[in-house]
Amino acid sequence: AAAAQQQQRQQHVAVVGCGVNGLCTAWQLLERGHRVTLLEQFPVPHSRGSSHGHSRITRYAYKEAEYARLMRRAFPLWSRLESLSGQRLFINCGMASLGSGAYLRNISEVLESNSMPLERLSGQSLASRFPRLAGFRDCVLDPSAGILLADRCLQTLRSRVAQLGGRLRDCVRVTAIEPQPDGSVRLRLSGSGTAAAASAEELTADSVVLAAGAWAGQLLSGLGLDLPLRPIGVTAMYWRLRRADGAAVTGDFRPEKFPTFVYEDEKLHVYGLPELEYPDMICMHDGPDLDPDIRESREQREPYYLPELADFVKRWFPDLVPEPAVTEKCIYTLTPDSGLIVDRHPSHRNIVFVCGCSGHGFKLGPAIGQLLSEMATGQPPSQDLAFMSAGRFKHGVTSAKL
Ligand SMILES: Cc1cc2nc3c(=O)[nH]c(=O)nc-3n(C[C@H](O)[C@H](O)[C@H](O)COP(=O)(O)OP(=O)(O)OC[C@H]3O[C@@H](n4cnc5c(N)ncnc54)[C@H](O)[C@@H]3O)c2cc1C
Repeated sequence: AAAAQQQQRQQHVAVVGCGVNGLCTAWQLLERGHRVTLLEQFPVPHSRGSSHGHSRITRYAYKEAEYARLMRRAFPLWSRLESLSGQRLFINCGMASLGSGAYLRNISEVLESNSMPLERLSGQSLASRFPRLAGFRDCVLDPSAGILLADRCLQTLRSRVAQLGGRLRDCVRVTAIEPQPDGSVRLRLSGSGTAAAASAEELTADSVVLAAGAWAGQLLSGLGLDLPLRPIGVTAMYWRLRRADGAAVTGDFRPEKFPTFVYEDEKLHVYGLPELEYPDMICMHDGPDLDPDIRESREQREPYYLPELADFVKRWFPDLVPEPAVTEKCIYTLTPDSGLIVDRHPSHRNIVFVCGCSGHGFKLGPAIGQLLSEMATGQPPSQDLAFMSAGRFKHGVTSAKL
């Protein structure tokens, strides 16, 4: 039994993907004493996946109670990373839910029924607290929410992984995952960097965590799993303050006076963040379908400018120029219900995966990493994951090659 326990503690886990999910999983595995090899196809850091960028919203205010509860696990882990590293990773500016009455009721119900803090602001109380949101009649504020400094989070996670002895290999692409008769898993690798690194290679591990973002579908279909994943190109747009008499209108758009927000009605879903890296940012949650490997050429042909968002800016933020000043490209991978997929292979239980983060996965990273680290090392996940199971998309899952 002692030997089995020892073996349990010292598994070698290959983690595919060095975005927020791969890094958080590696961190959690290493903290539990496992050996980790982290494999990334591009040079690290890079901006071709979903995790790069200055900032990401973090919040309890979810329409789905399961995700709000998952944040109970994620928030303390982000705080722990802050205290372990001495780095500031989080700005607590709150998050305003704005939009239709149905949306606000839904958010209030989830927060209240889970005993999570909320404040209802309307009229004068909204205007004096957040002057730039005065035009909205009502707001449900999640006061615990705010901004994660995404690039700094990734850098801090990489340092933590290195400190704990994790091995990160970049410019290495996993081309196939092959379960072996003895229960181990062989990964076929090819160098994607210099010619010298381009020779084929393989790695054997006790278990594999796939955290491959928009590329997950390719690797999973090689394992006989066909999941309904849809990578789309997303443009984060930064909107500039109008200038009066040559000077910028002094905005109350700093995080002290302006929270992150999510606006939702029957037609629109808009994420917004306060002034940080550029003056003001509003991020649209839609875009064209995308093959992540031919991203650049495809994107050049796609329009990024979304008239609906410009109309939104004109209506609600008349002090902003209704045309984005800066645009940045990124990828989401959507699922049909916009929920994540976190599961294990039905036949090979030591192959586990996260994918389909649908544009809201950053904040959840440490919670997902903790659950995947349990699953990859043969432990039952410490939270019921049915709501994130691959099996909820019954018609999308095939097992031809299992
Ligand atoms: C503009 C924008 C705004 C967002 N805003 C928010 C927000 O406010 N709040 C929030 O919570 N979330 C937000 N998100 C979503 C969040 O950022 C993503 O859900 C999250 O980053 C997904 O991380 P990941 O690790 O799964 O994927 P990625 O970051 O894409 O990482 C996957 C990695 O795997 C590597 N890889 C893939 N295949 C292979 C292979 N075969 N071999 C080796 N390496 C491989 C890739 O190169 C990549 O580095 C936003 C996303 C975008 C794009």
